[in-house]
Amino acid sequence: MTSSEGPWRATILTLFPDMFPGPLGVSLAGKALASGLWALESRDIRASATDRHRSVDDTPAGGGPGMVLRADVLAAAIDAADAGPSGPKDRPRLLMSPRGRPLTQSRVIELAAGPGPLIVCGRFEGIDERVIAARGLEEVSIGDYVLSGGEVAAMVLVDACVRLLPGVMGRLASGTEESFSEGLLEYPQYTRPQEFEGRTIPEILTSGDHAKVAAWRQAEAEALTRARRPDLWAIKARQKRPKSTTDG
Ligand code: SAM
Repeated sequence: MTSSEGPWRATILTLFPDMFPGPLGVSLAGKALASGLWALESRDIRASATDRHRSVDDTPAGGGPGMVLRADVLAAAIDAADAGPSGPKDRPRLLMSPRGRPLTQSRVIELAAGPGPLIVCGRFEGIDERVIAARGLEEVSIGDYVLSGGEVAAMVLVDACVRLLPGVMGRLASGTEESFSEGLLEYPQYTRPQEFEGRTIPEILTSGDHAKVAAWRQAEAEALTRARRPDLWAIKARQKRPKSTTDG
């Protein structure tokens, strides 16, 4: 969203602000960042530490391995970001977390349509539970595996949003026909040469018959989704089923 308050903005709270923009500074996202189509603010959580050692973590209550990010330090970092140019306070506040709801393309579309999120990147064993409730953080996971920190996960989320912002992608259509946009995986893509190591491009794609190409792509997308992502296919199949009279 580009509003009177400025372009879509991602505010990242991290212990490693120098990791940004990283991969977000090149190619599509990087060009869009340089031309002001979106803004990125990377803020050091450690700047909100108050003791002389600037400590941000402590041992877990109840014992156990590792360290936990302190609630007071993180809350102060969030409050400082809210008070800064990244306001207003009604921006989505996300916490990258393997415990979170899995990130989906539909949530990405929602986030891209808003003012842009504030994103907290965890480290160590995670963050003190109390700050999640106290600052209304929405936990978001990028998959069922554990990363060493939330920064790479935040980059994934921001990249997925930025490419949907107006003016970022070259062709408008490229966002509407790809994987997940219709609840299906994308159909196979081909380009020249016509023959590669004995494998040719399916004839229908070079036939010039647009209706047949569209039907072929739809069938391929459905077959791929059914084979590789039965979870997505089940949702699609439910949507396709005609409503029975007992459905209300
Ligand atoms: N002890 C935590 C657990 O078992 O759930 C894992 C902490 S992990 C080592 C450190 C940080 O990496 C997390 O606080 C989170 O910010 C980030 N992280 C790790 N895996 C992630 C994932 N799959 N999605 C999003 N963020 C993740």
